[in-house]
Amino acid sequence: MKKPNLLISECLCGVHCRYDGKNNRIDELECIQSLYNIIPICPEILGGLSTPRPPAERVGQLVINNIGVDVTKEFVRGALRTLTIAQDNNCHRALLKAKSPSCGCGEIYDGTFSGILTTGNGVTTDLLLENHIEVFTEKNIDSLIPKKSDD
Ligand code: SF4
Repeated sequence: MKKPNLLISECLCGVHCRYDGKNNRIDELECIQSLYNIIPICPEILGGLSTPRPPAERVGQLVINNIGVDVTKEFVRGALRTLTIAQDNNCHRALLKAKSPSCGCGEIYDGTFSGILTTGNGVTTDLLLENHIEVFTEKNIDSLIPKKSDD
């Protein structure tokens, strides 16, 4: 049976695309790949930012980095490019990195660069949800992995 396509944050696949040049590889990657045809994306790289880069957080409708530069345009461009890739690949679901100003879902950092979380989504997550793409993070990855039956 053909595996469904799944959009996935590149840093969750072990790609060093985080702002600090590191990655967030998940232990479940092989399991996810056995169930889905993964489509890796990094919205911040797609938006034209480089790695490493200053960390950024959402401040209302803007995204500002920790040296005070407004990077909203790059984040929006990355979100739009990610949506195009999702739609071109018929992805109905995405597994994205929790808490990120691009990829977070349900909670993100509050814009003060003090590690405090607030309710909200990353810029890319908002756009995917608006376009009826379901978003999961590594925190609820179990929802993407069918449970084995007991028999
Ligand atoms: S933008 Fe998303 S995919 Fe890229 S490094 Fe940040 S959390 Fe990972």
